[in-house]
Amino acid sequence: MTDYRRLRVALLGAGAVGSQVADLLRKHADELADRAGAALELVGIAVRNPDAPREADLPRELFTTDSEQLIVGADIVIELMGGIEPARTDILLALSSGADVVTANKALLATHGPEIFDAADQVGASVYYEAAAAGAIPIIRPLRDSLAGDRVQRIMGIVNGTTNYILDRMDTEGSEFADVLADAQRLGYAEADPTADVEGYDAAQKAAILASLAFHTAVPLEAVHREGIRSIDRQTMDAARHAGYVIKLLAVCERLADAEVDSPTGEAISVRVYPALIPREHPLASVHGANNAVFVQAEAAGNLMFYGAGAGGVQTASAVLGDVVSAARRHIAGGVGVGESTRANLPVVPIGRVTTRYQITLEVSDEPGVLATVAGILSEGRVSIATVEQTLVPAGDVAPGIARLVIGTHTAREQDLSDTVDRLAASGVVGRVVSVLRVEGN
Ligand code: NAP
Repeated sequence: MTDYRRLRVALLGAGAVGSQVADLLRKHADELADRAGAALELVGIAVRNPDAPREADLPRELFTTDSEQLIVGADIVIELMGGIEPARTDILLALSSGADVVTANKALLATHGPEIFDAADQVGASVYYEAAAAGAIPIIRPLRDSLAGDRVQRIMGIVNGTTNYILDRMDTEGSEFADVLADAQRLGYAEADPTADVEGYDAAQKAAILASLAFHTAVPLEAVHREGIRSIDRQTMDAARHAGYVIKLLAVCERLADAEVDSPTGEAISVRVYPALIPREHPLASVHGANNAVFVQAEAAGNLMFYGAGAGGVQTASAVLGDVVSAARRHIAGGVGVGESTRANLPVVPIGRVTTRYQITLEVSDEPGVLATVAGILSEGRVSIATVEQTLVPAGDVAPGIARLVIGTHTAREQDLSDTVDRLAASGVVGRVVSVLRVEGN
């Protein structure tokens, strides 16, 4: 066996992901050493309760509650505790102690990314975070390295498995949101408190991370427009299917030209998370169950799609271990780590300035002249109609004398659209605005 240099690896956290990382580090030690060019010695695991049962069979003597003592003296620190503190303090300590850091902590990077990357730059260390967006799917390295010579125009990602599972079942089974959510919680696909997933917070964190990398711009989490999926009901799903669409919670990161921005190139970016209609023939429409996928459009490379498991202990451990090998190679090679490039510093435009196509579903009185009134309000609001359909609504879904209109628009500006929808709602001919959904992906 090759006599490799020994690198001391400290692990913080041994939950769903950490216990699998520890297990694989030990089981595949020889192979990992060959790939890394260094022996990766797991010197300890910091947890809250060293005596808690673990998903993997790990020696009790590795466990400690003293993360500080473990971090100081480590060559590589793997942070898999999650949350902001003590993860932030521990990562800063690791960097200032000369270690490279591997983390899967999207919440921390989306809120304190610049602080952590600056700290790494100051000491010439590297922070690796392949598992922080879309779990096992390699997307950070492709954006940071493989596409470094290209210009990313747009990313559309299904980056939250729980919401994709819920929307997929609503689409394929015709079920209601609340029923599928309850089932997802019973099966372990959704947390007891599903807010982070169904309200889009988790996807927004990942969108901030992906957009920062893709556009070389620090994107603060507050700049990400976020909407969840609670408003999607069975009728909206049925109407989408009928019109040839499927509804997905999308993270959209887009480079756009914006005349109003104060940017030397006239370029800006938009970063947004919302449920959107995508054509059933789009590659993202075929992402089923709890899977994730990221669709990238780059100037030279064209369309690329990355697909796979967005979560899961062992799946996420794969991405973490890939980072550990990279960190080890860098540590052995020496030199200064390459930091995150945020030099483009593009402004993030508010959602009101974004343009997309829309599908507006209205309940109106089923009388002559109503369609003309609706069309007039849309035209006054600079929203151009592409299609109009009066849908067949199952008896009992609406009161007698009420018709449902589904209006597809050409590209319109979000602010114009929302002002127009307000005017429609107040017009007297519209009983209810059932839904307003953006159309993405064509
Ligand atoms: P988890 O199952 O909740 O495990 C967290 C671990 O961290 C536990 O071992 C816990 O110790 C330890 N810990 C928490 N607070 C601590 C503290 N103050 N001091 C010392 N140890 C502490 O979390 P996870 O699901 O493995 O997720 C870990 C990270 O990976 C998170 O950032 C998450 O967002 C990310 N991630 C997870 C997945 C996934 O599928 N689970 C996918 C992608 C990314 P005890 O065991 O003693 O309580």
